Amino acid sequence: MIEIKITGEDYEQDIRPLVKSFFPEDSIRIAGKETSREGKKGKDIEEEPEETPDKFLSLELLPEQFSITFQTGEQTCTETEDFSELLPGTYRNEGTPDRRMYRNYLHRRLYGMLSGATGVVLPWGTLTGIRPTKQALERLEQKESREQIAEYFKTEYLCSEEKTELCIQVAEKEQKLLYGIEDKDSYSVYIGIPFCPSICLYCSFSSYSLKQYEAYVEPYLDALFKEIEYAGTCFPEKKLISIYIGGGTPTTLSADQLRRLLRKVKETFDFTYLREWTVEAGRPDSITRDKLVVLKEEGVTRISINPQSMQQKTLDLIGRKHTTEQIKEAFLLARECGHDNINMDLIIGLTGETAEDVRGTLTEIDRLKPDSLTVHTLAVKRAARLNAEMERYKELRSREAVEMMSACQNYTKKNGYEPYYLYRQKNMAENLENIGYAKPGKEGLYNVLIMEEHHTILALGSGGSTKFNFAGTNRLERVENVKSVKDYIERIDEMIERKRDFIRSYGEFL
Ligand code: SF4
Repeated sequence: MIEIKITGEDYEQDIRPLVKSFFPEDSIRIAGKETSREGKKGKDIEEEPEETPDKFLSLELLPEQFSITFQTGEQTCTETEDFSELLPGTYRNEGTPDRRMYRNYLHRRLYGMLSGATGVVLPWGTLTGIRPTKQALERLEQKESREQIAEYFKTEYLCSEEKTELCIQVAEKEQKLLYGIEDKDSYSVYIGIPFCPSICLYCSFSSYSLKQYEAYVEPYLDALFKEIEYAGTCFPEKKLISIYIGGGTPTTLSADQLRRLLRKVKETFDFTYLREWTVEAGRPDSITRDKLVVLKEEGVTRISINPQSMQQKTLDLIGRKHTTEQIKEAFLLARECGHDNINMDLIIGLTGETAEDVRGTLTEIDRLKPDSLTVHTLAVKRAARLNAEMERYKELRSREAVEMMSACQNYTKKNGYEPYYLYRQKNMAENLENIGYAKPGKEGLYNVLIMEEHHTILALGSGGSTKFNFAGTNRLERVENVKSVKDYIERIDEMIERKRDFIRSYGEFL
């Protein structure tokens, strides 16, 4: 356990993720604060109140003095600097460039100390945010050259050449994909179907086992149709660019339910400018020929069939109650039904897996040749069963994520896939990232729109988090639906009213 003591300015939220990147297996305690399992806004934090710290990090962030001390066992390192002359007067103000500058400086000093003490070099340097490409894209839009952006990532964030190049490559791709889509006059729609055939070990979504919740499906669809009808009236002046139906697993719906849902969407929204309609057909054990035909006939342009791994032992361990054969059959059936844009999701760092297992998975994927491949790095979230049962799976913890990621990078490069979107999450194995690779022209546009927070995305269904984008600014406001299916059904009018209220107040700025 690490104890962090901060005197002066409150940079706890900025410091914590960087410290965690160096010590992923340690919990963190902030000295002088009540330890609890709930973090700010109920987010994940990892305190274990009973533990005794064996590492101490102390930061003095005073206007006239800056000092960091790190102590572990016999080893103690300290750095002190008087930089009152250098410190701009506005560094205390939230959201100002000066505050960002100070934070980045603090990160670099902390990074230098922790890297020196541990010998660990982080490929992303001090970049701990979710969307590292956002900055690269902003700089491309300001007409900065590749070299200037690379220099900025290196000096400001100590980011490795490899990750910097990846970021720029993705940002260039995003720039092309977003060309002509103005935030002011466009929007997208997300629709969630929160049912799954079984619940995976690592799942942190609000997903419900179909077996137990079957009776809720029809009432859920009734409520959802009501919300879809309302959503169709929200932006008569804007162009609908993409629709994404995810979950859960939308293909847990029967073929008839799926057809009714897709038709409801078609009769509600104007498809004139629609560029993409994705449906996640995630779990092969939910896919049938009838459903694939419905998706094709109703005009869905992109589907996703997600193996996560092609190792049977892994599928069994993570609670996906299907075989690798079923994955292959579902994929070939989808091709037979005319689906010409199929994504497959993989997860690296899955419990019990080695780099050799991932290479084996890639060999199987190569036989299917999906149009895009999304490679996720396992991130254990607080809500996941894997987190609660961590002790039980400790021995099986995967430790070769870097090698796995590099196998995926080599495979995609050799086979004509290009990286087109990228994001990071907290607690990712080896501090890596999630990357979407696609054959040219087969990218998932919605993924880019949501990652770059490019325009408003109306999110419908339980757990939906609508992101209202204030056109021409970086401001984004969320309006959330309740997570529980039961509450969603009972309180659908309130969910609609929440969005209506927001649009009534801020519609002119969107
Ligand atoms: S398929 Fe996805 S949403 Fe469903 S239980 Fe597994 S991880 Fe969760």
